[in-house]
Amino acid sequence: MSNDLSTAASIGCAAEPHGGTAQWLAEAKQALLFTAVRPDVVMERGEGMYLWDTEGKRYLDFIGGWAVTCLGHSPAVIREALDRQAATLVNASPSFYNKPMIELAKRLTQLSGFDKAFFASTGAEANEGAIKLARKHGALNLGGAYEIVTTVNSFHGRTLATMSATGKSSWEALFAPKVPGFKHVPLNDAESLLAAVDERTCAIMLEPVQGEGGVHAADAGYLHTVRKLCDERGLMLIFDEVQTGLGRTGTMFAFEHDGIRPDVMTLGKGIGGGFPLSAMLTTSRFNLFEPGEQGGTYIGQPLAMAVGNAVVREIVERKLHEHAKEMGDYITRGLESLANAYGLSRIRGKGLLLAFDLPAPRGPELVAACMEAGLLINSPSPSTIRLMPPLIVSRSQADDMLALLSGAMDRLRAD
Ligand SMILES: *Cc1c(COP(=O)(O)O)cnc(C)c1O
Repeated sequence: MSNDLSTAASIGCAAEPHGGTAQWLAEAKQALLFTAVRPDVVMERGEGMYLWDTEGKRYLDFIGGWAVTCLGHSPAVIREALDRQAATLVNASPSFYNKPMIELAKRLTQLSGFDKAFFASTGAEANEGAIKLARKHGALNLGGAYEIVTTVNSFHGRTLATMSATGKSSWEALFAPKVPGFKHVPLNDAESLLAAVDERTCAIMLEPVQGEGGVHAADAGYLHTVRKLCDERGLMLIFDEVQTGLGRTGTMFAFEHDGIRPDVMTLGKGIGGGFPLSAMLTTSRFNLFEPGEQGGTYIGQPLAMAVGNAVVREIVERKLHEHAKEMGDYITRGLESLANAYGLSRIRGKGLLLAFDLPAPRGPELVAACMEAGLLINSPSPSTIRLMPPLIVSRSQADDMLALLSGAMDRLRAD
């Protein structure tokens, strides 16, 4: 570290000749806090289903910014919404109403059937809001109950409370002491759930389809039991739809598959199409916060609100949830046709949140081989591959994906 401030002015990345990708990578390794193993490429540009790196190499993107870029990369509607809003009002203050904030609250409540919307920037923050609301409900209505039952293998975010809510065994020992008040039970096991709920319980929280956990859906029967249990005991039911919401699973919201309506639903990822935006929706019954108990600097930030309005309008107008269903079925049939030849099993998922298992734990190698071939896919665990492309993916792009994937599997097998 240097304390010489006079050098600061002379350090200008753009002003100096740049050594290209190798230099970018060296600078990345030097200046970024290490938190993730990333491949040695620097992404520079995106358009539709494709990303380009600084070497000009093109990638067909079946990760979609982690189920985020639902309209593809740099779509016109997001560019225009940002342009228009930036020229009008970038930021007022979280303590004032602004027009796009009101518009988005109205749009989302009408679309989802909930009554009230709270906005934030990330999925973890929306889930923190839900956790706080559940504890408030426990304090006001359940004699101080504060425990939240969540599921094994779930993912709810990376703040301390949402890490504590997350049912990931590799996180158990991390950052002790964890936020107390979370119990984890296996998904689709009603008996374990009944055993875990007691007078300390204020809420049950789950993903209708576990995303990071490897694409595992909650059964309709299980969800009925959960809803009934919550109704009988006065518990709040929270669905984390950060990954599944807004068309991803082939319906507008994943709760629609089985008709089980939660009391609180959180949204993130796709709602901003790549811009940081999340939301927590609930009913009038849970309009329980007093001023000052929940908020934040970027709550209802006008740029984010304008993007949210544009993205949600686009999904609804183009019926992208229906397209996701159709394309999900198409890709599933394509994967099934490869299953025998490559030993793929448990092809699963809904809409464009899909996964399958490999015959051997070579997921990371397959991800690398696909990337080499110009295809981005995700391996949430060594034996599992997950696909979560933008909702705009076409049949010919799906065919390209299947061809690149089988080519990469051929090469892996030849090694
Ligand atoms: C990604 C994700 C989160 C966390 O969202 P961030 O924006 O990374 O904070 C929470 N829940 C689920 C189901 C997710 O997929």
